[in-house]
Amino acid sequence: MSASAKLPPFDAADPLGIDDLLEPEDLAVRDTVRTWAADRVLPYVADWYEQGELPGIRDLARELGSIGALGMSLTGYGCAGASAVQYGLACLELEAADSGIRSLVSVQGSLAMYAIHRFGSEEQKLEWLPRMAAGEVIGCFGLTEPDHGSDPASMRTHAKRDGDDWVLNGRKMWITNGSVAGVAVVWARTEEGIRGFVVPTDSPGFSAPEIKHKWSLRASVTSELVLDDVRLPATAVLPEVTGLRGPLSCLSHARYGIVWGAMGAARSSFEAALDYARSREQFGRPIGGFQLTQAKLADMAVELHKGILLAHHLGRRMDAGRLRPEQVSFGKLNNVREAIEICRTARTILGANGISLEYPVMRHATNLESVLTYEGTVEMHQLVLGKALTGLDAFR
Ligand SMILES: Cc1cc2nc3c(=O)[nH]c(=O)nc-3n(C[C@H](O)[C@H](O)[C@H](O)COP(=O)(O)OP(=O)(O)OC[C@H]3O[C@@H](n4cnc5c(N)ncnc54)[C@H](O)[C@@H]3O)c2cc1C
Repeated sequence: MSASAKLPPFDAADPLGIDDLLEPEDLAVRDTVRTWAADRVLPYVADWYEQGELPGIRDLARELGSIGALGMSLTGYGCAGASAVQYGLACLELEAADSGIRSLVSVQGSLAMYAIHRFGSEEQKLEWLPRMAAGEVIGCFGLTEPDHGSDPASMRTHAKRDGDDWVLNGRKMWITNGSVAGVAVVWARTEEGIRGFVVPTDSPGFSAPEIKHKWSLRASVTSELVLDDVRLPATAVLPEVTGLRGPLSCLSHARYGIVWGAMGAARSSFEAALDYARSREQFGRPIGGFQLTQAKLADMAVELHKGILLAHHLGRRMDAGRLRPEQVSFGKLNNVREAIEICRTARTILGANGISLEYPVMRHATNLESVLTYEGTVEMHQLVLGKALTGLDAFR
């Protein structure tokens, strides 16, 4: 018998055999999230997208809590304590359904919960994390402002002491989950430097008008946060961090999830294109039989599975406690950029059908325009890597 007879068959869904890297528990997590998304998101998401809303978001959050997807890689306080690889696999499956659902989960777990878990007091953790892990309370994370996005160090939102209390004033912009949140983690300038505040959204002076007219992430709630003399007790500040290190470490965690998530959107678009190429006939044969289409499919598959492999590599480093922020920038920069390219190429394979919501491709492509910008734009991650490579800071 020749050596090749013993080789496993080629699997179009996993051409590099990356699944061999997964443990049975990893596969179980992936299957649970994939099944949930197939049942609860995929049949409806095109309508939600068309309507520009995420109806039933509170029910969805509770269901995501019940499958352990909220604050998944955190430990204690009702969180699942999953590995970084498992969290990544969940992000991939959620974003294969829609980036809006993955954004809900990322902001809840990697931004709002992570901030409280890592920098909060024991009282803050006990008060918020179990209900957030269960999806009973939705959280948001307010860093970006109307005039300060890539440069959050220049933020204007401020918190001033008044006796024992803090009084917050300012505006945050483009805040995922804002209008449906029960708690907001808000970053503000203080005399001591930038501090994080845990703000119950029923605090007098707090409001969160929803931002409409988006052409991307339409199945996601995005809001402005308005803080008008919001008075909070001394216990509202996150005690364990001062300075930009606080929000930036939360962002690093969320970006890690995006490295995986973007490949989910890409996989969904690739699968749609592959299906279409096999069945759509022009000039008397399937368009997948033309060399130009095959070149596109081959290039898409190469970038898709390289991206998944990169995500795995970063996940293993995170699980080993060895993942550097520059490595997360590497992953986010590459995987979102390649994912959007895969979606755009898939769009061409579907021809006119590519622009229809009957297929997921254009929805993913427009969603990824937001993913390309939030959690650090392409340019910011190029500058992070450029600085790490050259030792020269080109940010300002
Ligand atoms: C749908 C959506 C959801 C979001 N959710 C959240 C959230 O939950 N919480 C939150 O805090 N924020 C959120 N954001 C905001 C997001 O993080 C910011 O949009 C992002 O940081 C970029 O900021 P900006 O839009 O103000 O762009 P700017 O910072 O104004 O950048 C504009 C352009 O200039 C480039 N640029 C800026 N500075 C430089 C430089 N030094 N060198 C080269 N190029 C430069 C940028 O790369 C970009 O291309 C969300 C955004 C979107 C679209």
